[in-house]
Amino acid sequence: MRGSRPRGAGRRRPPGGCGGDTLRTPASLAGCYSAPRRAPLWTCLLLCAALRTLLASPSNEVNLLDSRTVMGDLGWIAFPKNGWEEIGEVDENYAPIHTYQVCKVMEQNQNNWLLTSWISNEGASRIFIELKFTLRDCNSLPGGLGTCKETFNMYYFESDDENGRNIKENQYIKIDTIAADESFTELDLGDRVMKLNTEVRDVGPLSKKGFYLAFQDVGACIALVSVRVYYKKCPSVIRHLAVFPDTITGADSSQLLEVSGSCVNHSVTDEPPKMHCSAEGEWLVPIGKCMCKEGYEEKNGTCQAPSPVTNVKKGKIAKNSISLSWQEPDRPNGIILEYEIKYFEKDQETSYTIIKSKETTITAEGLKPASVYVFQIRARTAAGYGVFSRRFEFETIPVFAASSDQSQIPIIAVSVTVGVILLAVVIGFLLSGRRCGYSKAKQDPEEEKMHFHNGHIKLPGVRTYIDPHTYEDPNQAVHEFAKEIEASCITIERVIGAGEFGEVCSGRLKLPGKRELPVAIKTLKVGYTEKQRRDFLGEASIMGQFDHPNIIHLEGVVTKSKPVMIVTEYMENGSLDTFLKKNDGQFTVIQLVGMLRGIAAGMKYLSDMGYVHRDLAARNILINSNLVCKVSDFGLSRVLEDDPEAAYTTRGGKIPIRWTAPEAIAFRKFTSASDVWSYGIVMWEVVSYGERPYWEMTNQDVIKAVEEGYRLPSPMDCPVALYQLMLDCWQKDRNSRPKFDEIVNMLDKLIRNPSSLKTLVNASSRVSNLLAEHGPLGSGAYRSVGEWLEAIKMGRYTEIFMENGYSSMDAVAQVTLE
Ligand code: AMP
Repeated sequence: MRGSRPRGAGRRRPPGGCGGDTLRTPASLAGCYSAPRRAPLWTCLLLCAALRTLLASPSNEVNLLDSRTVMGDLGWIAFPKNGWEEIGEVDENYAPIHTYQVCKVMEQNQNNWLLTSWISNEGASRIFIELKFTLRDCNSLPGGLGTCKETFNMYYFESDDENGRNIKENQYIKIDTIAADESFTELDLGDRVMKLNTEVRDVGPLSKKGFYLAFQDVGACIALVSVRVYYKKCPSVIRHLAVFPDTITGADSSQLLEVSGSCVNHSVTDEPPKMHCSAEGEWLVPIGKCMCKEGYEEKNGTCQAPSPVTNVKKGKIAKNSISLSWQEPDRPNGIILEYEIKYFEKDQETSYTIIKSKETTITAEGLKPASVYVFQIRARTAAGYGVFSRRFEFETIPVFAASSDQSQIPIIAVSVTVGVILLAVVIGFLLSGRRCGYSKAKQDPEEEKMHFHNGHIKLPGVRTYIDPHTYEDPNQAVHEFAKEIEASCITIERVIGAGEFGEVCSGRLKLPGKRELPVAIKTLKVGYTEKQRRDFLGEASIMGQFDHPNIIHLEGVVTKSKPVMIVTEYMENGSLDTFLKKNDGQFTVIQLVGMLRGIAAGMKYLSDMGYVHRDLAARNILINSNLVCKVSDFGLSRVLEDDPEAAYTTRGGKIPIRWTAPEAIAFRKFTSASDVWSYGIVMWEVVSYGERPYWEMTNQDVIKAVEEGYRLPSPMDCPVALYQLMLDCWQKDRNSRPKFDEIVNMLDKLIRNPSSLKTLVNASSRVSNLLAEHGPLGSGAYRSVGEWLEAIKMGRYTEIFMENGYSSMDAVAQVTLE
């Protein structure tokens, strides 16, 4: 295709926008249309509107071309020469405004092409084209012109370089026919009302390095005010201490790209952090996280440690002991809980002793006389240990020097003493299984629990849940696992819910040296019994043992003043069941699967820790503003006492029947496999946006039906893959149910491959499920088929039932599984 620069290219009008000699009176503009062969200078008015719409592009859009910001010549080509023309305007800063117009509405057989220059796609495989244009209403043209059109066409041609410029029109691929939402008339011109249309189209997958765009006019009156070509990316973010890089979205409009994050400095991965970049440039479904390394605490998405202890001074030095004192680090970055003092005889670093102290002084005893000892000290805050201080060396005094004012001690006795001490250190070392020992000399009895938790040996790397019941004193358990917070650090803002023990409030927590956090505060109401206090704090003793992005995080407890409180992270969207009911139908399947994935990951963590939840239900899941779901509601016996859904079974236990596996209802066999059953019910609740499982059926009917093999039918619009997973969770044989790690893997696969979620359980099989599983259930309670179907939210199938002869409840009750 041959072409030429549009007429007017490079010819610039003087500044002054729409004023000065370029402004026509409405009457003369109208004249412009009665003689459409002349350049329609009405674009001048429109340019003002276009300029006003010069908005910054959203942060997840990267421009490949924006005609409004190109300072020089755009280099576009018009063919034939007398078709499209460029109106060379400049704004008040003399910056060019590139507007192309064509208005050959009086002539037959128009075929006017405007070709852009080559546009690199910068590696993007899906690009978006945003056009701003005005279009004249044909009916408003004098005489109602028969040849006038109200659309134009947009095309593209891919090529690796600029050589594609001379290709023929018919080699271009059509993107779309573009019509105006609003065309303008002469009247609008009179009123100076601007009707600027914005249309966006996308093209992909692209396989070459770049492309040309072309605009074809077939006889319309158009002014193309701006052309913006962009791709979308998920902009770099830091989530859960992991950095996710700028990521260009995938080629497919439903594609989710799995992106791995890298841990910020001084942090390490717990579960490898991942997120998914959607085609719209949004980050979805965060998985895993990084954690600050020991000694570092999280602050504004980074990890900074408590600064090292610097100022260490020697105190009293004797032949067998050295006393030291030091000052708090300059930047404690939190409350210092204790110090750890490591010391060893110089050049004997492999055999060292560790003392822990809450004070800033210690005395290391049992040392060799006349020997140099190396000391290093580090502070511990709630975030963990800081780095060790530099080495400080101090020497014990020689035995004879010491003996000058004391009775003589034979050297042999000193040697024996030293030998015994060394032996004790070695035995301590072997018993503890660590490369260090704890000095008993100045040790607080609590410190021994660093190794032994109430008789449970804590092996490094193997974390297991410790039932707070195993503690004789429940107060000891709560202080073992939960940090005591001073009430003055908490500001209560408003009541957000009611728990069994008192109100739940939102508020803020400001710990010294830490940034203020939004928190939820559970309070224990006044006049509580000792058992209520124990049960209330029991939840904190359990929650405090967990550290996972999908488990509600405990900040600490207030027990030393009243009211007694449990402080946790704040979850903006509250409990999942209420949130879903409020937002019925608002989420994509991927978002729902992301929620389910989070819950499954939290449950995998709990089952790995050996904790059985027993009350897993959407009402016990909390959801935050990023749609991250976290498992909550941990308790001792009270879990089930507290739950309004829990009902007494014939064996006397109180159980949330609709969520509980048959073996747990029948003989209280609660295991991670029974939690998997409950997880299946949660899946059903999530996909049906908070519908009540088994609707209004009675608990007795539910138990009976489940025992007889009936299962909940698929929720509406449910992907087959999800419903199949639900059915797997509801296998009667608990050993046949999937494990939580398998569920997490399965959901990950679905998230990676969203097209696998496109096949939905179809309406007819939902109806047949309904018949098979719910026809006979509770049907006696309803007077008509319609009423029954309404009650189970299937009212829309009434007609199908009627058409198939199921017009009475008796007929429905006859339906069998076959
Ligand atoms: P619970 O006693 O744990 O069942 O809490 C009662 C209600 O308080 C819940 O249903 C939530 O609506 C709300 N709630 C509890 N904990 C939080 C939290 N961490 N963030 C936000 N809301 C919460």
